[in-house]
Amino acid sequence: MPVSKAWRERLTNARDTRQCAQQWRARRIKQPGQLDFAGNDYLGLAKDPRVQAAQVEGARRFGAGAGASHLVNGHLAVHEALEEALAAWTGRERALLFSTGYMANLGVLQALAGTDTAIFHDRLNHASLLDGSALSGARSRRYHHNDIDDLTRLMTRSGCACKLVVSDGIFSMDGDVADIAALARVSQQHNAWLMIDDAHGLGVTGANGSGCVGPHWGSQQVPILVGTLGKALGTAGAFVAGDSLLIDHLIQFARSYVYTTAQPPGVATATLEALTIVQREPEHRERLERHIDYFRKEALRLNLPLGKSRTPIQPLCLKSESRLLLWAERLHHAGIDVGAIRPPTVPKCESRLRVTLSASHSRSDIDQLLETLNTCRREVP
Ligand SMILES: *Cc1c(COP(=O)(O)O)cnc(C)c1O
Repeated sequence: MPVSKAWRERLTNARDTRQCAQQWRARRIKQPGQLDFAGNDYLGLAKDPRVQAAQVEGARRFGAGAGASHLVNGHLAVHEALEEALAAWTGRERALLFSTGYMANLGVLQALAGTDTAIFHDRLNHASLLDGSALSGARSRRYHHNDIDDLTRLMTRSGCACKLVVSDGIFSMDGDVADIAALARVSQQHNAWLMIDDAHGLGVTGANGSGCVGPHWGSQQVPILVGTLGKALGTAGAFVAGDSLLIDHLIQFARSYVYTTAQPPGVATATLEALTIVQREPEHRERLERHIDYFRKEALRLNLPLGKSRTPIQPLCLKSESRLLLWAERLHHAGIDVGAIRPPTVPKCESRLRVTLSASHSRSDIDQLLETLNTCRREVP
């Protein structure tokens, strides 16, 4: 059967447009020897032997896969134990495991919101939050980044009884932090619920690494807390934490929870181990803090285009896509992986190198990065 001409045209047009804009993305097989300044394994737990051993042990005990969805018979004792530990860590009544952060955000927004609700997004929110909004059919508005006055103006104009304010805790491409106190205050003033996606804060910041929200802000202030497990915790999956009314609702109505196989039990076992390490060993967080301070101090001294971020996400704004690709290529050849972030992930003219720091780095790894960045700055201005 001949392949439809219309489909071929559609796909080649999309490809050509993206290639012309220098936005074509290619995967590269990760080389074991490369220095990794691109990932989100902020504490180095993905390679911690204790976490790895726990994963093996969990697979041995419970199976390589869960075998079914949570509501059929895939909800295992280790899932329950992990949910309880995550709830205690974040100071919430309950927590609910999802297979990925993307699915958690789709599930929460689809289950809570509808055509009769209004969702207010920070302009720089993660794509999964925007996609969840679209799926829910709710009326969505985007306020200027971290701009509480703009949010207030939008909420004042809205006649919706059910309002939901949604923000990243630490913004994934800029590394800056949401003003949780201000968001909680204006949300309460407008009878809105507040949802924080703390994918990059958990494990990294807050008391016991409990993130930007943690037990410090309770369910009154932040009724919906989303966390992911594939970043600082070094494994995979995600959770939503909140009170029983919320969690029971999600178990009933979040389609990305109901219609999918439960997380592999080895992953849940490994996550429990990672969580224990995060709570018991503050030294990894402290080491990461020192790396952030050192990198910023040296990058400023070298006149690199550093932003304001105080978190492990340290973007270097290079603006032009072609300059960005040249820098990234040069770094790669020097044995260093750094994320090259282009539109549509970030706005036009805001292409950047997204440097991420980890407790697993050594001081000399960071020196090597700085030295290569300095060469790029001199030779590819
Ligand atoms: C990474 C990320 C997600 C997605 O989490 P996954 O578990 O990788 O699907 C969601 N929200 C934010 C803010 C993220 O950075």
